[in-house]
Amino acid sequence: MNTLQMIRDFKHEEVAFFNNEKAGLKCIIAIHSTKLGPAVGGCRLWPYKTEEEALFDVLRLSRGMSFKNAAAGLPVGGGKGVIIASPSEKTDALFEAYAEAVDSLQGRYLTAEDVNTDTHDADIMLRKTKYVVGRADVSGDPSPFTAIGVFEGIKATSKFLFGTDDISGLTIAVQGLGKVGFDLASKLHDAGAKLIVCNHSNRKMMKRAVEEFGAIEVPADQIYSQECDIFAPCALGAVVNYDTIPQFKCKAVAGAANNVILDDECGKMLKDKGIVYAPDFIINGGGVINAGQEAFTTYDKENVLKQVHNIYNTVYRMLEESKETGKPEGVIATEFAENRIRNGLNA
Ligand code: NAD
Repeated sequence: MNTLQMIRDFKHEEVAFFNNEKAGLKCIIAIHSTKLGPAVGGCRLWPYKTEEEALFDVLRLSRGMSFKNAAAGLPVGGGKGVIIASPSEKTDALFEAYAEAVDSLQGRYLTAEDVNTDTHDADIMLRKTKYVVGRADVSGDPSPFTAIGVFEGIKATSKFLFGTDDISGLTIAVQGLGKVGFDLASKLHDAGAKLIVCNHSNRKMMKRAVEEFGAIEVPADQIYSQECDIFAPCALGAVVNYDTIPQFKCKAVAGAANNVILDDECGKMLKDKGIVYAPDFIINGGGVINAGQEAFTTYDKENVLKQVHNIYNTVYRMLEESKETGKPEGVIATEFAENRIRNGLNA
């Protein structure tokens, strides 16, 4: 699909390209929907090879944010910003110029951190615009909330598969022991699950998982073929694909990674193989529930935690509807979010 056609088909409200030669900024901000409220989504900094590639990514990601925010029950829309640069090119001037671009949209888009941007960069943005959420001094690091949501989603998956959300004795393979994966592994261990883990880098976290959680370490390329109850991808997207699905010996896929299924055909393949899938943008919504609250109300941690725990119910509902209709879980989740965007959060 070409990108102009994507803008039409995805029904973006606004896509803006900003050039600031002095600051070295080239960025695109895509507002997919403001139907439920101002568009909220992070700022990704990435060395895209072409502007076309950046445009494709920002269109896809901003629509994904509309779905994620609506499914999480947040009265906000979906948007995303991408800066075309490599991490070594990060400067204060770059983020100030980006913030000016955000500010020029007058609150229709609220930015946050994402891949290659962090709370320090967000602090720089705050010099030029107030339209920043996920602030270090307010909601803080989203990862612990993401991990809580994924843990709830795994319990709901267990309830659906085995009739109980007591996961003690289940074997869970966790791919990636980063900010979310390690925290999740800790919660799973505390709840009595047996762990199989792999990590691409950071031996320290691997050593800790083996020593503190009794986890079994496997090489990264062998994680897909492990005999386990649940595979929890917490590293990369698109790891459920034509190559890995035939290797799977799990009963469910439920983890933090975004865009975890390569394409719709892979979603069908997974279902045909009888493997249950907890939709990624529902199960990993804890972080956005935390940061997104800054967009529409005074931040209240108790309220955030209540909503994050509710991921259990939403995941369970998606799995039930998939079983009843025979449609893949990812399709059910997208329909659920689209319906909320059209008809409001109570739909
Ligand atoms: P992170 O960068 O802290 O951790 C990722 C970990 O995965 C790293 O330890 C890395 O070594 C490991 N890894 C990378 N490639 C691997 C491979 N092939 N095999 C095994 N391990 C590999 O990232 P994170 O913040 O923990 O996020 C993890 C995933 O969850 C990402 O896909 C992210 O988009 C998604 N996610 C994160 C959040 C959040 O709040 N952090 C929210 C929603 C979704």
